[in-house]
Amino acid sequence: MNPLGELLKARIEREGPISLHDYMEMAVSHPEHGYYARQNPFGAEGDFITAPEASQMFGELIGLWAVDVWVKLGQPGKFYILELGPGNGTLMGDALRSARLVPEFLAAAEIHLIETSARLKERQAETLDDHDIHWHDELPDLVGAPIILIANEFFDALPIHQYSYQSGTWVERMITLRDGKFAYQLADTPVAITSAPSADDNDILELCLAGDRLIEQISKLIFREGGAALIIDYGATETILGDSFQAMKRHEYADPLASPGEADLTTHVRFSNLREIALSCGITVQGPIPQGRFLERLGIEARHHQLKKNAGEVQRKNLDTQLRRLISSSEMGTLFKVMALSHNTSAATEGFGS
Ligand code: SAH
Repeated sequence: MNPLGELLKARIEREGPISLHDYMEMAVSHPEHGYYARQNPFGAEGDFITAPEASQMFGELIGLWAVDVWVKLGQPGKFYILELGPGNGTLMGDALRSARLVPEFLAAAEIHLIETSARLKERQAETLDDHDIHWHDELPDLVGAPIILIANEFFDALPIHQYSYQSGTWVERMITLRDGKFAYQLADTPVAITSAPSADDNDILELCLAGDRLIEQISKLIFREGGAALIIDYGATETILGDSFQAMKRHEYADPLASPGEADLTTHVRFSNLREIALSCGITVQGPIPQGRFLERLGIEARHHQLKKNAGEVQRKNLDTQLRRLISSSEMGTLFKVMALSHNTSAATEGFGS
């Protein structure tokens, strides 16, 4: 067993079964042995490819989305641009490069990144070395200027609790040790979950309290200061029951309990839940809509065409592959959803249609 596995094992031997939440939190975020502390997650050499790593067009279009929000905010002389979990910093780099078309936007932007991995902070500093950056471990309470926030594949990494429906009650799914390996086990006593939909025996319900708290914080911040947030992630438009806890290792699905800290652990984001919370804070919500449609509305095909005009043959093929990857239904186009929150902008944000 790897060092993180040994730590988890010792804890289970000491305390008994632990929640899936605690298992996932340690596997993803343990400061020394957690996935983002030790692995190089992204790209062909890593475990998975995110949209900004797949193509510069993704971050560029989001940069233009942000410029449009800024215009709709009345071109404030100062605003905060925040990104949650920026990975290598590629999205922010591409966004700021495309925003160079509007120098007043860049001059007004104060850049804040929310990142817990020391290793990835270093990568972000290298990618964004032309810019002044403020880093935070969690969402800062920024005051005195509007907010433009971006989160791509961030909410899926937040730890969840899972519950199984058993004879009319919900019972938490825990992680225990069986024959020296991690295995699921149901808790001894049921819990009351008021918001749960109707279910059949053995249905699984997932709750992400960290995500719920975060969307509430973001909503309150935007309600107070004005601005907009763009949340991009995979998940269904409506809440569904089911086990979405998954591991990715070297671009293949893996067993999430097999080697904690060595594979990327994620779950599908419950957009309908996030939407409800934002609405209850008085925020305007657009979407979730499929990523493919959002990027088409922002003009990805025109950008693709423009890049191809100046490209050699190999690069032209690559650009076609990138476009397909981002918008095709069989790739990221449909599974990934985009949702915008906004407040005090003169009009709804771009990319969602009327
Ligand atoms: N947005 C990037 C990376 C997505 S991976 C991209 O699209 O390429 C998830 C990112 O969130 C990583 O940077 C990871 O270190 C960070 N992260 C995960 N959990 C976090 C938490 N609880 N707080 C802050 N950052 C976190």
